[in-house]
Amino acid sequence: MSNAIETAVDKVKALAETLEEEVVELTRSLIQHPSEITQNSGDEGPAQRFLAAYLEKGGYDYVDVFLPTEVPDIEKHPGWKCDQNYENRPNVVAVRRGTGNGRSIILNGHMDVVPRGDETKWQYPPFSGTVKDGYLYGRGACDMKGGIAVMVMAVEVIHRAGIKLAGDVIVESVVAEENGIHNGTLACCLRGYKADGAVVLEPTKLDVCAGHKGNQIYQVQIPGKATHSCLWWSGASAIDHAIYFKEGLKKFEEIRTKETRSHPLYSDSEIFPTPALVDNIWFVEAGKPHFLAVPDQARIMFMVEVLPGEERNVIKERFENFMAEWCSHHPFLKDDMPSVVSSPFSDTFPVSVPLEDPLVTTLVESIEKMRGKHPVIRGFESACDAMTLMMWGNTPSIMYGPGNLKNAHEIDEKVSIAELKQAVIELAAFIVTYCGVNE
Ligand SMILES: [Zn+2]
Repeated sequence: MSNAIETAVDKVKALAETLEEEVVELTRSLIQHPSEITQNSGDEGPAQRFLAAYLEKGGYDYVDVFLPTEVPDIEKHPGWKCDQNYENRPNVVAVRRGTGNGRSIILNGHMDVVPRGDETKWQYPPFSGTVKDGYLYGRGACDMKGGIAVMVMAVEVIHRAGIKLAGDVIVESVVAEENGIHNGTLACCLRGYKADGAVVLEPTKLDVCAGHKGNQIYQVQIPGKATHSCLWWSGASAIDHAIYFKEGLKKFEEIRTKETRSHPLYSDSEIFPTPALVDNIWFVEAGKPHFLAVPDQARIMFMVEVLPGEERNVIKERFENFMAEWCSHHPFLKDDMPSVVSSPFSDTFPVSVPLEDPLVTTLVESIEKMRGKHPVIRGFESACDAMTLMMWGNTPSIMYGPGNLKNAHEIDEKVSIAELKQAVIELAAFIVTYCGVNE
């Protein structure tokens, strides 16, 4: 590390140490601008405009506020999912140009949050930003307004310290990530925002996640034979067949666990008791409540996870062959096979960055220096916009951010204040080291 970088890192560390209150305040302000996503739309507008106004004062070269639908021909792009209304839902991108000859970085976070759910169940009102016992509470606290506040404050610290970075910094606050849509980040990629690397501030408990899973989502129709319910023995219940089908999912999951147990990013069995899920039915529908008959049809939804380095189509084919074989041993299903019907969800792709990529090594080294301890390096539990940045923006992307994914999407969502503060220090040190400084 050059002397100039070392001096700059010391400067940002000293300054970031004093900013705990500011990062908490910024997270709280973002929480207080609800930005819930719905099936067809989202309410990110007010929060995004608040953030844009904040960034306008942050010494950036420019702040770009644009609707995803303003990007020419985006609707024709293979990554576009045309399921939502984008009125009043702008992306916000702030660009700080470097002096040259440095690596460029994208910092990415999504502003949309999942709906609050039953408000009466919240111990603290979901949009209050209450602080209690070292945690900040509210919808989006960990997924991921805490992360957005951290990336904004990390760049703010560098700005206030008067450090001139060699590489560009691009701060992206996007709309439409939850529900697996990813159109916000897609719009940033197609608008031309690319970099040598990206950090997506999803909640990783400040672990370094060098990749994430993908999945294939299935909706399956399982047949049965209807008969008067009093003659149960002469029919064939689709619910019983669904249970048999589920046993097959479990068997395939056991095979997958064996073969993925030593995957470099998912080998920790405490964090990942099951590295690649298969037996995870989250929706079942069968029978007719007012029709006394043996149910002749059941519908289930589940997903088959795919890990970085694996071919989704290969896993998909193996899984489908396995289930066809499994069902061929069933007295009813062998002649009337379950069928896949289209699901309302889109599939996701696994992605990863080599552990020797400077993006990973620089973040790990910066964390070691600031934390005095080696961070956990692993894979992320879920897909996120890292996939979008890598597939459509050609930008290697990793995940690192405050908060525990366990607390995301739940009642009384929270983020640790100590983690918010630590993340600003570590991310600022990383940016300075990765982008370099003008000597
Ligand atoms: Zn998220």
